[in-house]
Amino acid sequence: MPVIRRIAIVGSGLAGLTAARLLGERNIAVTVFEKSRGPGGRMAAKRVPGGSADIGAQYFTARNPAFTRFLANHAGEASFGIWHGRFGYQKGSEWESFPDETRYVGIPRMTAITRGLSSHVDIRAQTRIEQLERDDQSWLLRDANGESHGPFDTVIITAPPAQAQDIFRTSQLTDLEEQMSDPVRHIQPCWAVAAHFSESLEQPYEGMRCDDDVLYWVANNSSKPGREDEGQWWVLHANPEWSRENEDTSPEQVTADMVSAFQQVTRCKTQPDELIPHRWLYAKSSSRDTPGFRWFDDQRIGLAGDWLSGGRVEGAFESALGLAEKILSR
Ligand SMILES: Cc1cc2nc3c(=O)[nH]c(=O)nc-3n(C[C@H](O)[C@H](O)[C@H](O)COP(=O)(O)OP(=O)(O)OC[C@H]3O[C@@H](n4cnc5c(N)ncnc54)[C@H](O)[C@@H]3O)c2cc1C
Repeated sequence: MPVIRRIAIVGSGLAGLTAARLLGERNIAVTVFEKSRGPGGRMAAKRVPGGSADIGAQYFTARNPAFTRFLANHAGEASFGIWHGRFGYQKGSEWESFPDETRYVGIPRMTAITRGLSSHVDIRAQTRIEQLERDDQSWLLRDANGESHGPFDTVIITAPPAQAQDIFRTSQLTDLEEQMSDPVRHIQPCWAVAAHFSESLEQPYEGMRCDDDVLYWVANNSSKPGREDEGQWWVLHANPEWSRENEDTSPEQVTADMVSAFQQVTRCKTQPDELIPHRWLYAKSSSRDTPGFRWFDDQRIGLAGDWLSGGRVEGAFESALGLAEKILSR
């Protein structure tokens, strides 16, 4: 069995960085390729006047205590903490409280975690990988500028299914490309809007799961620990059906519709004075097929990411942990 000494990881979201840290500390040379300017993926925060707003993942659970141990050791104890908010869900015209659960967030923003994890990791930012090329027993990775990286003994792909499928298609790895078809179908889009209010909105909850034609979730981002905003930043997420129907609607129209829905849901007529929209084409997976990770021994290609393990932040960690253990056990 060939020894694995050099690994390329595509994607620097939580799954990619978890795998990078776990494999890197076992003396494997890891290089992470990220198409965006910085790490984080869907644990994203947008710069807003006076601070930032989490426009992707809102909070995360750590039902497996190994997750918080890992974060404390590798991202730093100060990079995350508990969001002591009140959380409710809408049932018709009524609101009910969610059962108690410990909900964690990055401090002072979600990206604090992935920033912490990415220290000591060799990350090539703004490098979109388009193709894997065989080089004898190894892999070379070709980026969107035609530049070649490698060789690597193994490639781990943590990009969402549609983007992983694009890489397999270009690489003529037809078998793997076909295996992505079902996961691709289960990925749902999400329109997000960060809205600033100069005065505090009186609401019974800081995080609200909506039962609405437009909105799925609204949250008072300023209530999270370590945020020092003037006024309040709220984050609004549209539901998957509405987001899909409005995939090509202009951001201005989407923002107006979501703010209007927010005013109805919260029965609050206060007008926001700053609005920042963001469209997520690949937000969450609705698939019930959750094998944890995928490992193709013949090609020495691994797949990890939330979509293989329940579609959330903790799932991304579990997926990468499972794949790293599999690779280390060879
Ligand atoms: C709107 C929204 C709300 C959410 N709310 C919650 C929540 O409240 N709680 C929760 O637990 N989870 C939530 N999630 C889900 C959570 O964000 C994800 O489960 C988790 O962040 C996924 O991590 P990942 O590493 O698997 O993938 P990602 O974070 O998507 O990382 C993949 C990375 O790969 C990069 N990439 C893609 N293609 C290429 C390429 N060709 N070359 C190089 N790089 C590439 C991407 O830029 C990205 O950085 C939410 C997600 C969204 C979008």
